[in-house]
Amino acid sequence: MSYDVIVIGTGPGGYVCAIRAAQLGLKTAVVEKDKTFGGTCLNVGCIPSKALLHASELFEETAHSFGRMGIDVGAPKLNLPAMMKFKDEGVDGNVKGVDYLLKKNKVDTFRGVGRIAAPGKLEVTDEGGRKQTLDARAVVIATGSDVARLKGITIDEKRIVSSTGALVLPKVPEKLLVVGAGVIGLELGSVWRRLGAQVLVVEFLDRILPGMDLDVARSFQRILQKQGIAFKLASKVSAIDTSGAKLKASIEPAAGGSAETVDADVALIAVGRVPYTEGLGLAEAGVKLDNRGRVAVDAHLATNVPGVYAIGDVIAGPMLAHKAEDEGVAVAEIIAGRAGHVNYDVIPNVIYTYPEVASVGKSEEDLKAEGVAYQAGKFPFTANGRAKVNHQTDGFVKILADTKTDRVLGVHIVGPDAGNMIAEAAVAMEFGASSEDIARTCHAHPTLSEAIKEAAMAVEKRSIHM
Ligand SMILES: Cc1cc2nc3c(=O)[nH]c(=O)nc-3n(C[C@H](O)[C@H](O)[C@H](O)COP(=O)(O)OP(=O)(O)OC[C@H]3O[C@@H](n4cnc5c(N)ncnc54)[C@H](O)[C@@H]3O)c2cc1C
Repeated sequence: MSYDVIVIGTGPGGYVCAIRAAQLGLKTAVVEKDKTFGGTCLNVGCIPSKALLHASELFEETAHSFGRMGIDVGAPKLNLPAMMKFKDEGVDGNVKGVDYLLKKNKVDTFRGVGRIAAPGKLEVTDEGGRKQTLDARAVVIATGSDVARLKGITIDEKRIVSSTGALVLPKVPEKLLVVGAGVIGLELGSVWRRLGAQVLVVEFLDRILPGMDLDVARSFQRILQKQGIAFKLASKVSAIDTSGAKLKASIEPAAGGSAETVDADVALIAVGRVPYTEGLGLAEAGVKLDNRGRVAVDAHLATNVPGVYAIGDVIAGPMLAHKAEDEGVAVAEIIAGRAGHVNYDVIPNVIYTYPEVASVGKSEEDLKAEGVAYQAGKFPFTANGRAKVNHQTDGFVKILADTKTDRVLGVHIVGPDAGNMIAEAAVAMEFGASSEDIARTCHAHPTLSEAIKEAAMAVEKRSIHM
């Protein structure tokens, strides 16, 4: 069988790429090794984690916020199997949605492991070991990423879990040790803390959320500590003894020194993700990887081998579903002879905790390192009417604008619904807005988004409600 495009992997990068290619009239197929479509994001990533974050947030609100709003329902009781069913139904619905969309767009689907056998030839091996070879004018590698592991610590997905195991724990651990203070560790740590676990987060660096604006990270850490999450920064988990009823983790200062031992029922290893290229036959096909094992691509998402492209977590850049999706659209358009493009300067990043953390563009540290002169406008939610009346005043909006041109270079939000609010900042930045453009845009009252307008006004020190 012969195709214009064959996409390997059906995560958000792969399935979106296939749909866009089909829309553009290209004969398209996808190859997927797993039982369901949707990749990490739909099956064991964004979707199930957000279901548990949503349910656990409401559980906590019921316990702590309902009473003061005059809603007396008594203490909520956790039914963990039902909460897991709620999550699984959400995953199932989303996964079936991808199935439907692929069919609707007449994308052919092949189950099995895809391997680049020769230029323009893709071999698919199914579960039973049967092989078939497909012809393709273009192959898109969208094979995503896998959990990063720590030397000497074996993930059994029962007591020592990755994010995948942390999404299906059969009971609330009394003590949860989270190794790594990145997005996944903080999101899943929040879920299990809300459901009753004592959570300790150990991080190698001396700060949480590496790569994010430091002011945001520090403020967010204080909020999480107030909620009951404990942190041990500049520390590393060097071993976990699994011989007893409790895990015994050895924690050492990152700079060296004597170890202390901490008990836990479950340890979540959340130290990042690595590109997944197993079984693709890249070395034989001559496809180059970069120094971190990612498929190397040029500005048009093309590898060094003609006709082979790559997108998503398997290439450089933030490991985010929407980045993979945008690359999927761009590469389909490039293959179809159009001008596909991704603006890597405007990719929002969201942490779906309570409060949420969202950012787009440069952090203060980025701008200082690049020697760019900037002005910061900051507005706290304690001064926003809607946040005040809802008793949701943790956090702030910060806008960073170029001193000379006033162009918005970065927006950072810690606060309720920050993940939805950051879209306004992303649109503004795509259009090259100045902070004054945002400041002069009418924002509905009373909304949380007025804090964005006020932060923009604060760039010129003229916010009204501060
Ligand atoms: C717990 C967790 C929470 C997350 N939350 C968010 C979030 O809220 N927002 C966000 O933007 N991102 C989130 N992410 C990250 C997001 O899931 C990834 O960035 C995204 O899934 C990457 O998409 P992708 O298409 O590149 O790859 P994947 O989604 O990893 O898909 C790759 C697919 O390729 C298949 N495959 C691999 N090799 C082969 C082969 N040789 N043949 C056939 N098939 C193959 C795999 O089975 C898989 O289905 C989260 C991740 C995790 C783990």
